[in-house]
Amino acid sequence: MTELNAPLDDWVSRLADEAVAFAERNETPVKVASGISPSGPIHLGNLREVMVPHLVADELRRRGRTVEHIISWDDFDRFRKVPNVPGVDSSWEQHIGKPLTRVPAPHGSDAANWAEHFRRELQSALEDLGVEYRGISQSQMYTSGAYIDQVLHAMAQRGRIDSILERYRTLDRGDSSPATENAEETDADAMSGAAEDADGSGDSGYYPYKPYCSVCGTDFTTVTAYDDESTALTYECRCGHTETVALREHTDGKLVWKVDWPMRWAYEKVTFEPSGVDHQSPGSSFAVGKDVAPIFGWKRPLGPMYAFVGIRGMAKMSSSKGGVPTAAIALRYLEPPLLRWLYGRKKPNQSFDVALDGELPRTYDEWDALVRKTAGEKAQPGDIAAYARAASVLDPASGAVRELPLTPRPMAYKTLASIVDITTGDDEQTLRILAALEPDTTLTSLDPLRPRLDRASAWVAEQMPQQERTVVRTEPDTALLESLTDEQRAGLRLLLEGSGTPAPAGLGRLEDDWSLAGITHQVYGVAKVQRGLGADQIVKGDKELAAAQRAFFVLLYRLLVTSDTGPRLPTLLLAIGSDRVRSLLHP
Ligand SMILES: [Zn+2]
Repeated sequence: MTELNAPLDDWVSRLADEAVAFAERNETPVKVASGISPSGPIHLGNLREVMVPHLVADELRRRGRTVEHIISWDDFDRFRKVPNVPGVDSSWEQHIGKPLTRVPAPHGSDAANWAEHFRRELQSALEDLGVEYRGISQSQMYTSGAYIDQVLHAMAQRGRIDSILERYRTLDRGDSSPATENAEETDADAMSGAAEDADGSGDSGYYPYKPYCSVCGTDFTTVTAYDDESTALTYECRCGHTETVALREHTDGKLVWKVDWPMRWAYEKVTFEPSGVDHQSPGSSFAVGKDVAPIFGWKRPLGPMYAFVGIRGMAKMSSSKGGVPTAAIALRYLEPPLLRWLYGRKKPNQSFDVALDGELPRTYDEWDALVRKTAGEKAQPGDIAAYARAASVLDPASGAVRELPLTPRPMAYKTLASIVDITTGDDEQTLRILAALEPDTTLTSLDPLRPRLDRASAWVAEQMPQQERTVVRTEPDTALLESLTDEQRAGLRLLLEGSGTPAPAGLGRLEDDWSLAGITHQVYGVAKVQRGLGADQIVKGDKELAAAQRAFFVLLYRLLVTSDTGPRLPTLLLAIGSDRVRSLLHP
């Protein structure tokens, strides 16, 4: 099932083909890259930066190729602004301008610094998602001196770089004002290197290198002089400090973003790196990179544009409270294969929404339908590939396909959610009801329903819309019970006590067959018996009967959960238990 032998015409296969063709033209192995700036919670939209190259690399590995995926942690970027996140207050403003690895982590975090705190959350999600990569800390690279030759080269070539940038400066609208649709996305974009302001130009000339001040630690510095021969570089800082350093030994600064990115393409020999729409406008870093990369002896990699990922839901985590939908949050409700599948099924240039709201159970239904299709005889190659890419990864270390954990007994998410909602998460009660739902199979523990059951529990607790919640009455609605008509009273008596005539034509007591099938027969039978029909009689097209059944159901919902609707009645009765049902319905 996980072998992808048939040639496919989907985006993953096509990009994989193009990635190979590009690398072969340039006589180098395929190397895919992602860049993530851990400047705050990493939005699900930025997960596309990782998932697009991951899916392409995974496809090529399945074809037997060795492909490295690198993730550049852009943690030597400056701390631009204080995001609204828990554990952080206005005192963090003193750190603006410092590298992200020298800003303290939010209060309560045990991370060594700001960048590590937010990087770790994504790393853990990527592990769950089965993404294999080599992480590269740019703080580590710059401060260890790994890029010294490249920095000296960029300074030596600053005239050339300046004239390239000059050609684009008039076009430069893209990086400073990405075409965003809402504030949330603007925040997400601000995290990427695209939002870096300076390109290195200043009154004292063009210098593509920006030192961090040795006194105040920020990059509010301006290079005022540079001597190519000695590499003596003089800078002054906003804090008043002025210093001359030997650039050939200086490891406390970085190239400006528009030079840094192409330099790293060359350093790592990257051949494939997608980027967000904000990087791809006419004067943007990706556009400029085409001309800057050759200065470092490389070529701009293949770089498909990816569109935004929207989020539905997250009402409780509005941006005013600092809630950003991250991969870790999505994985609280979605099993990793489902999240992989969402990123695989849309072409990178198509935007899509991850639904965490009332629509989330539908995502599970669609996934379950895909799983059924791939298991059937008429499985289409596209469906098989979509399933395989979501449910497994090719492990580059062993060369074998590794299946990601899936729930052994995938019960409908909506059913799980409504039962968890009714039982308020009581395991014993949940097991009793779920076992009754499927009496043909023996369910002696909740384990085969996990992890989906746990995801559904978290969703009910944190995201389920209020109007979909079921609150079972603790006391009978005496006012409503006293106002019942004789027919309604008789209906309730029939439901609870039966018709006194033998089943199946008549109705027994409600507890006589306390199963999903038995209760279904009972609740539908009441209106039939009241109209002189057999309880088990199959009746079609009787509109009056159907209306009477509906009216009876509404009455039951009102008496049980103070609402006109609710979960399916047999499920609801099973969940409530017969004692409580009797106390709430006794006319
Ligand atoms: Zn300073």
